[in-house]
Amino acid sequence: METKQFKAESKRLLDIVINSVYTHREIFLRELISNASDAIDKIYYKTLVDDSLTFEKDNYYIKVIPDKENRVLKICDTGIGMTKEELDENLGVIAKSGSLQFKKENELKDGYDIIGQFGVGFYSTFLVADKVTVISKAFGSDEAYKWESEGVDGYTIEPCEKDSVGTEIILKIKENTEDENFDQYLDEYRLKAIIKKYSDFIRYPIKMDITQRRLKDGSENEYEEYIEEQIINSMVPIWRKNKNELKKEDYDNFYFEKHYGFDKPIKHIHISVDGAVSYNAILFIPEKIPFDFYTKEYEKGLELYSNGVLIMNKCADLLPDYFGFVKGIVDSEDLSLNISREILQHDRQLKLIAKNIKTKIKSELEKMLKNERDKYEKFYESFGRQLKYGVYSDFGSNKDVLKDLLMFYSSKEKKMVTLAEYVSRMPKEQKYIYYAAGESNERIEKMPQTELVLDKGYEILYFTDDVDEFAIKMMMTYEGKEFKSVSSSDLGIEIGENENDEKDNKELFESMKDILSDKVKDVRASKRLKHHPVCLSNEGEITIEMEKILNAMPN
Ligand code: ADP
Ligand code: MG
Repeated sequence: METKQFKAESKRLLDIVINSVYTHREIFLRELISNASDAIDKIYYKTLVDDSLTFEKDNYYIKVIPDKENRVLKICDTGIGMTKEELDENLGVIAKSGSLQFKKENELKDGYDIIGQFGVGFYSTFLVADKVTVISKAFGSDEAYKWESEGVDGYTIEPCEKDSVGTEIILKIKENTEDENFDQYLDEYRLKAIIKKYSDFIRYPIKMDITQRRLKDGSENEYEEYIEEQIINSMVPIWRKNKNELKKEDYDNFYFEKHYGFDKPIKHIHISVDGAVSYNAILFIPEKIPFDFYTKEYEKGLELYSNGVLIMNKCADLLPDYFGFVKGIVDSEDLSLNISREILQHDRQLKLIAKNIKTKIKSELEKMLKNERDKYEKFYESFGRQLKYGVYSDFGSNKDVLKDLLMFYSSKEKKMVTLAEYVSRMPKEQKYIYYAAGESNERIEKMPQTELVLDKGYEILYFTDDVDEFAIKMMMTYEGKEFKSVSSSDLGIEIGENENDEKDNKELFESMKDILSDKVKDVRASKRLKHHPVCLSNEGEITIEMEKILNAMPN
């Protein structure tokens, strides 16, 4: 039997690539700049393996040139260029990636930053352009060629003039339509913003001529415009820099530039991991709760980069909910990207990174708790609730991660204490970790139910957040010690009930019960009280405070 090759309806295929792969038009610029960066990388690689060549850093750059009048946007690079054959193969064959081939031929392994791999990015130009012209002169060649296409109908290649090695992509930008504004892709400031957003950490300078204004010489109110060539991208991402070279200010500035918050971060965590999965990350723990934190609008997540190119603005999978307040970025070479380079197809590496990040945040918080108690308490004031929700919503191992990060106000210390600290102070005969739930510390202090426990000299933790008691019920024990509400009927403290009291006052208790009818289950004499005449107590798992919260919830 003869095996036949699949054929493709190339017009349809191109149409699919142009219109279905990408969700945002603006990414065409990311794709072209990535290609230009790859092209410069290839020259760089050539100079590394050939001693007769040197790499003059200043000669290598990418330049973006908008021309509003003619509706033309040019992207020029001084990279390796393409021969006639390469223009034909790389830009004429859909899904053919010259860059992937280059990587394979030269056996470039990890650490090499070549971005291209799918062989479709170039066609995203048709999202914004009616006509695309590519003028290229290949490294080591005297001839230049012009490739031109208006999309699905095909392309032409012919010889042309070009002085220097490299490639120029010339886009004839589409006219505005009713629902699409294409003018924006000719606007200096818009282009600058797109470059900043997706390509800030491309390693070669991305230049643009920016129109500036200044006071005319000798004048106090007359301005003139002038053109200044600017480098738009920051090139070396802060997370690839050496920690020792960076100051706290550098991190604070980055936090500010990224609009992570208006506060200053209480802590930054700079991670560089080389192992089963390699990645760099900078994470921030904010000081204050973002104003929208407890609204539906708040989206947790970290920025995700692959080789310095932005893939995702908020990758939620990188953070557990209870660390949802953490801000920052992750950059990894090891991610499997899908064809649009937007979403991840296989998330094994991502899961590894997420796990690693979780452990790191936890250990940094523990360190802060141990060494910078004041700071930790400030942090806890903002985000402690979130951690307690984490324990409460646990179906896995949250409580193990979080139990040592929790703090509660202590009757004994008159300040926030950890569970470990509580347990370390427990007298030998004390069976339970006692807590009292109420609206505020002041209210709890007046609770009659606390008397007996305090009298025994035992410490009580004050639960003033709705979630506290629920979280603790989920946890069940801490270091083998059960939690016990002070309003529970069995406190586990020896007190002989006075039978005579019960008998002598039988009638009184009966009539009290009658009057309170369905509000109480029973009325009894108690030895627990000293200064208060009565108190409420509960039987079973659901305490009085929990019942209040449950009753307040919408059904
Ligand atoms: P990918 O970048 O994933 O390989 P593209 O469709 O973006 O796919 O580009 C296809 C190929 O065209 C690239 O692999 C590269 O060989 C070639 N190419 C594109 N742009 C340039 C450029 N500016 N300079 C040199 N070669 C380029
Ligand atoms: Mg590409």
